[in-house]
Amino acid sequence: MENDPLSLDEIVRRVDTKAADYCALSDRIWAMPELAFEEHRSVAEHIAVLEREGFRITTNVGGMATAFIAEFGQGSPIIGILGEYDALPDLAQVSSATRPSSTEGGPGHGCGHNLLGAGSALAAVALKDALAAEGIEGTVRFYGCPAEEAGGGKAFMARAGAFNDLDAAFCWHPAVVNEVLTKSSNAAKWARFSFTGRAAHAAADPHLGRSALDAVELMNVGANYLREHMPSDARVHYSIINAGGEFPNVVQAYAESSYSIRSPTLQDAERVFARVKKIAEGAALMTETSVKVQITGGYSNVLLNKALYEVMYENMRRIGPPPFDTADYEFAKELRKTALSDDDVLASVVGSDVSLKDKILHDSLLPLGADQFQMGSTDVGDVSWIVPTVQCWTACFAIGTPFHSWQLVTQGNLPAAHKGMILAAKVIACTAADCIRNPAIITRAKAEWKQQTGGGPYLCPIPLDVTPSNLRAKAP
Ligand SMILES: [Zn+2]
Repeated sequence: MENDPLSLDEIVRRVDTKAADYCALSDRIWAMPELAFEEHRSVAEHIAVLEREGFRITTNVGGMATAFIAEFGQGSPIIGILGEYDALPDLAQVSSATRPSSTEGGPGHGCGHNLLGAGSALAAVALKDALAAEGIEGTVRFYGCPAEEAGGGKAFMARAGAFNDLDAAFCWHPAVVNEVLTKSSNAAKWARFSFTGRAAHAAADPHLGRSALDAVELMNVGANYLREHMPSDARVHYSIINAGGEFPNVVQAYAESSYSIRSPTLQDAERVFARVKKIAEGAALMTETSVKVQITGGYSNVLLNKALYEVMYENMRRIGPPPFDTADYEFAKELRKTALSDDDVLASVVGSDVSLKDKILHDSLLPLGADQFQMGSTDVGDVSWIVPTVQCWTACFAIGTPFHSWQLVTQGNLPAAHKGMILAAKVIACTAADCIRNPAIITRAKAEWKQQTGGGPYLCPIPLDVTPSNLRAKAP
């Protein structure tokens, strides 16, 4: 066993050796939450650590200042490990709170991406150490992927060809359960609709005004009528991001809404999107306003890869669940009592195993399920259309913790979260090591991927004229 630097025991040992440094990295990112496309300090922290480990750094990937690649080794296979580090607005929270206690506002790591980036970096470093120890051929790449929450950084990186030469891609997400993902996800497309009309005194000259706010409202009414006549698994959501001003006595000359359209396939999402665009044009016609449509992002659906997820499951089973201790349980119990409702608890396990609602922390592994579907969307989907991709979830938070909530932020730098993150690093590094020592796994994974995609070129859901800088300039 000692002679095999890629053995499960050896990789697990290598992760454990360096785990403390990456828990510290994760905590630093947690303490400096930065929003999509603005993750400059978070990126600098990751680059500093990976450069010290001997990785070669490429910055500005896909035209984004906060996207980077860190690479080690040479030759094939080329293993990609995906990391994220963006936070969410208005979720700032202190650590270990059992009631909302932050009064300062500001961003917070409500999706645990502080753990996601550091855990993936830890996996990449452990794998690199194993390859370097025996001079084994292979390339390890860590992808620093920005803006998962708003804009889809990986879709821009994919459009720029950043994943084209990979042999396999690995990712994970902090969660409330331990699970190898056999759930696909929705493709998504989103856009901003800007209506321009004509201002007028709303009492004296209403006949001279053309209301952009009316157009926004009529578009929403039209979209709500569309729901009956679209595929039942499609989703249409909207928000009004500019209602045209505070004064009702001014006819609103400019108003904007934002739409998100989802469907299990990108083709269906595009079809529903085309109909939503017609509704916008109809609303403009009715109100004698004009409408400008700006696509602001898009995700492809996730393609599952059985050849990879079976290997990942076997590694997760052999490594075992995170080693939670009494203190972890005590805090999770207290949080459950004060801040998590029965509905929260049920919602957090309904997609996995409802019997888990009676547990505080997930201390086992969900069995490998049949291929399923979840309604959310992720830009990991875009990577999966380019290269065989596999993901796991690990338990970092109390059962019942909703994503994008203060309850999640407050747990993001606790020992339980670190334990889940270290497990993810081990699972990814071991699965990637299996792919390196046994090339037949990658051959099978590629054959399966080719059958799913037809091997055709990747079609990015974001049109070429939409750039990350357009989006930044438009960010609300
Ligand atoms: Zn997330």
